[in-house]
Amino acid sequence: MRSEYIDPKKLIDDVDAEQSVRPSAFSEFIGQKKVVENLKLYIRAARERGEALDHVLLFGPPGLGKTTLANIVAKELDVNIKSSSGPVIERAGDLAGMLTNLQHGDVFFIDEIHRLNNVVEEYLYSAMEDYTIDIVIDKGPNARSIQLNLEQFTLIGATTRLGHLTSPMRDRFGVVLRLDYYSSADLFNILKRTAKILDINLDDAGAREISKRSRGTPRIANRILRRARDYAQIKADGTIDQAVARESLKLLDIDERGLDAMDRTILNTIIHKFGGGPVGLNSLAVAVGEEAETIEDVYEPYLIQNGLLQRTSRGRQITPEAYKYFGINMTTDQTTLFE
Ligand code: ADP
Repeated sequence: MRSEYIDPKKLIDDVDAEQSVRPSAFSEFIGQKKVVENLKLYIRAARERGEALDHVLLFGPPGLGKTTLANIVAKELDVNIKSSSGPVIERAGDLAGMLTNLQHGDVFFIDEIHRLNNVVEEYLYSAMEDYTIDIVIDKGPNARSIQLNLEQFTLIGATTRLGHLTSPMRDRFGVVLRLDYYSSADLFNILKRTAKILDINLDDAGAREISKRSRGTPRIANRILRRARDYAQIKADGTIDQAVARESLKLLDIDERGLDAMDRTILNTIIHKFGGGPVGLNSLAVAVGEEAETIEDVYEPYLIQNGLLQRTSRGRQITPEAYKYFGINMTTDQTTLFE
């Protein structure tokens, strides 16, 4: 019996797929020109001086390439990278263990740095500022603190919310860079690149369709691409053209503007349950059954960027554009809200 050949690439699941398509050098990293330009310059200067790169804070919505950039920076600096995440580092001791293992110039990456607890955060200050930490040895009456010198290292922090970082923390980063949503043209190129790596047949019209509807986010574009590949394989001839892309997006409940079911639920809820707003974040979260944090990090920025929602001092409010989007004629009452 002849066993059927299975292309190993087809067995890669989503998590591995994300790893395999992650750009590993600036030359492969598409878009975010300003951020890349800045980083390249600072890396070059630090390398020429033989010093560690200044601490870098990257902020912006999830899936835009913060982790990817941290890894690229380490690679371009030709140093090791150690990665962790805010909620994972629970005690100062955990942090001390990681910091003392760093070698000269290494990158220490902390994802979701706004979620570090206060004790750990304060402990990090001296490490960032003068590469020292205090550790307590012995217990009880013999307990005493000694200062330990660390190697010069670069902390790269990533956060979805700059506003949630304390100011002493923020002030300790010499380089603060903001990642923005990608243009459709950039996403088109990202999709083409991913398709090539994963051996997916994606034509230009298909790529254009997905790029317009991926919320400006590479992670989402790549995810839609993988689902479209499934669709093309089962329901079409394997190629993702415009028709296949459209059908897959329909199946994923993603509309013409790239809004998904939760985006629409949020807007609809504000319109129908809260009279268009303003509504507080927590009330909104309960009404739509989603965590407030997720609404704030994932959904809201894109809705605001699209002019469908606005954040006011009294809460979240629908815009006239959102009424138009749902084909709702604004009543006189609603119109006056915007005057
Ligand atoms: P974040 O840390 O901001 O949540 P990641 O760095 O994990 O985002 O990026 C998510 C995925 O998107 C990565 O696996 C990578 O494949 C892809 N990606 C992100 N930025 C780019 C880019 N500029 N070019 C190509 N692919 C990218």
